[in-house]
Amino acid sequence: MKNKNETARYVCHGSVRGTCPHRHTTLAGAVRCLLRDWRRCESLGGGSYSDRRVLREGTPASRTEYVALTADQRETVERMIDVARGLL
Ligand SMILES: [Zn+2]
Repeated sequence: MKNKNETARYVCHGSVRGTCPHRHTTLAGAVRCLLRDWRRCESLGGGSYSDRRVLREGTPASRTEYVALTADQRETVERMIDVARGLL
């Protein structure tokens, strides 16, 4: 399906952990994926952690390029992470 006004897609990406195999349509979905990866790394013990974070896909034509979230999106992501971790 082609759609010129394709909505933003999000991925979880880290230079060490690489990019998740999804193209999330919502920030909430990306955060759930991010937290799963964080937990998986933490469960390895030994201070292991995931360097993934949520990024936005750049232009649809270059799907391997990712750009930082906007300040608003970053705030939303941080709030969702805090809630998920029971810090609020
Ligand atoms: Zn994902």
